[in-house]
Amino acid sequence: MKKRAFDVVVVGSGTAAYYAVAGLKQHSNMTIAIVDERPYGGTCALRGCQPKKYLVSNAESVASVSHLLGRGLEGEVRTNWGALQRLKNEFLQGRSEAAQAHWDASGVTTFNGTARMRADDQIEVGGQVLTAKTIVLATGSLPNQLPIEGGALARDSEYFLDMEKMPERVTFIGGGFISFEFAHVAIRGGASAVHILHRSARPLRAFEDDLVAVLLKASAAAGIDVQLGVVPERIVATETGYSVHSASGAVIETDLIIEATGRHPNLTVLDGNMGNVAFSSKGVEVNSFLQSVSNPRVYAIGDCADTPYMLAPVADREGQIAALNIVHGNSHEVDETVVPSAVFSIPTLASVGLTEEAAREQSLKYRVNQGDTTDWPSSKRIGEEYGAYKVLIDADTDLILGAHILRHNAAEVVNVFALAIQFNISASALANFLWAYPTSTSDLKYMVK
Ligand code: NDP
Repeated sequence: MKKRAFDVVVVGSGTAAYYAVAGLKQHSNMTIAIVDERPYGGTCALRGCQPKKYLVSNAESVASVSHLLGRGLEGEVRTNWGALQRLKNEFLQGRSEAAQAHWDASGVTTFNGTARMRADDQIEVGGQVLTAKTIVLATGSLPNQLPIEGGALARDSEYFLDMEKMPERVTFIGGGFISFEFAHVAIRGGASAVHILHRSARPLRAFEDDLVAVLLKASAAAGIDVQLGVVPERIVATETGYSVHSASGAVIETDLIIEATGRHPNLTVLDGNMGNVAFSSKGVEVNSFLQSVSNPRVYAIGDCADTPYMLAPVADREGQIAALNIVHGNSHEVDETVVPSAVFSIPTLASVGLTEEAAREQSLKYRVNQGDTTDWPSSKRIGEEYGAYKVLIDADTDLILGAHILRHNAAEVVNVFALAIQFNISASALANFLWAYPTSTSDLKYMVK
């Protein structure tokens, strides 16, 4: 078998890999190879965050108009799903070819094929063996599949992103990020019956309960049927579509089932266990430098690493840190204490820092500022009927412990709170800052006063 030697071989070409390779190139003259079995670019750019935002932006526009009907707007606006798909596909057209060409042009050797680790320092791809001083695993994650009868009849978010037509009836299994985001897209995009089936009483478990409760009301008002405590047991193909049978005996008839019950690390690169890389169902086991605990030649970053978040910006950060550690020796540790996140439902649910439950568990002394935002001028003028916030402020230091917002532009404002937490900006400093006015960010002062 042909052998080629590199300083670093990176497996995967998503956002984590991008930042790792960019960092390696910036800080060293190492020889680098990238291997991917799918088109270059990874999940976020090609099959997740970026294309999804095309669908979400369209749904937000439809919703914005519907909120103002009879309040200064007349007429009807509707999604043209086919045209929306064309717009999104135009954006995607050529992106992965451009990503690969970018690396080729910058002296990185790219391979297209399935990588397998064959030894501590070896990756096999397409009949060649690549030896490496360092191997970076950035292989991402894959959607979970329920082990229930007929489970294979359910599709995943990737199918939804690319489907040519919006079905009449769409059912989502799971009460997390994807179900809520895509259910809001489906109901605005022309579906008439949209269900979310969630197994417990608590969907979007990582988010603040009080705000999730308001999102459930907003979802119901939009026409989304969220059923809690429903455990799907069986999926059956029917003459007209599918039926989902739950443990309690309830049956939902639908045209499309999207399963969104979480994702798991994609570790097929380790099939055969020849690389001495320890892993669990949570991913490659790494130390705080993102180095494999069992094979010091290996670093793991992004969704395939056993680190707390499966989020694109976290993957970016991990790529940067791994690059610095590979070049300079282990010197940079991951710090994932301030990680804002957002569910792009309508309205958006965004969060950073501690929930009240977490603050209570840690026996912190805090005050809570919380309220409804629908009477605020910024909500009134756009007809937003569901909105709320909850901010936890340390009782002694006046620092922000957590901020949770459900409304338009929530993610933008939560980013400001994230900055405040990271750099110890107090609630009173935020309240007294001269924000451009009136903006979503200037509303922040009402949340911290
Ligand atoms: P989530 O982890 O957000 O939600 C999974 C849901 O499925 C939970 O409600 C969970 O319930 C439920 N579930 C898990 N196992 C089962 C089961 N066996 N039977 C029934 N229900 C089950 O995953 P998603 O699939 O929605 O998204 C995958 C990941 O992708 C997210 O975790 C996030 O990291 C990322 N993502 C981020 C986005 C963003 O940043 N805006 C958007 C989309 C995805 P329970 O709570 O009870 O465990």
